Amino acid sequence: MRLEPFGLPPSGAQLTPAWHPSPNHGERKGCSRPDLVVLHYTAMECGHAAIRTLCNPETQVSAHYLIHADGAVCQLVEEQRRAWHAGAGSWGGVADVNSRSIGIELDNTGFTPFAAAQMDALEELLSDILGRWDIPAQNVIAHSDLAPGRKIDPGPRFDWQRLAHGGLSIWPSPNCAEIAPDPARFLSDLSTFGYQTDLETEIILDAFRLRFRPAARVRALEIADMKLAAALASTFPHRTSYTALV
Ligand SMILES: [Zn+2]
Repeated sequence: MRLEPFGLPPSGAQLTPAWHPSPNHGERKGCSRPDLVVLHYTAMECGHAAIRTLCNPETQVSAHYLIHADGAVCQLVEEQRRAWHAGAGSWGGVADVNSRSIGIELDNTGFTPFAAAQMDALEELLSDILGRWDIPAQNVIAHSDLAPGRKIDPGPRFDWQRLAHGGLSIWPSPNCAEIAPDPARFLSDLSTFGYQTDLETEIILDAFRLRFRPAARVRALEIADMKLAAALASTFPHRTSYTALV
């Protein structure tokens, strides 16, 4: 279902997820609606333990959704509200990612593949969210994208190309021209895509490769990194669609 231009979006997913309300949420600040989706893994032994953490007022953390390994979807925070999943970091020059985003936790330790049923459920949920809020596929990002050097989830095992095939994320298609390794140009291109680049090049490179070149083995910046970054900058410059409150 597409959001009508002046219609009010519904309060949650159309998938009738199980409702596990978390007290950890607040008002969105500076914008009235989400225009990003941030994907995480829980890094806990099971989804039920993660829900206990995300619903404990002492932890001060939450997410809008958690998807169990068997594909069961739980909603913890209403989509209009600001959940507390992103923490310090930025994307597209905006630091308060929580106010702009919907957070989805995937029950996964970080050491095992993501279950097929879980990926199926994620695709269904993402399709629903992107349609209702009119969020572009390029605005589905990793926690590691917005917090380079601090977070690594959903990690190198997550199948971003599968999401891109379904129009639920993006994947760059470099042209044939070779680009010599050039840290300044690499960072400039990644900044255009959305990464914060006021960190050491190695930290940004690690975050970029977690998502786009998880099999890379050479430590130094390579031509392949340059070509992918250039394709991201030319095809998917970051953009926002949220409505400012002021
Ligand atoms: Zn995370």
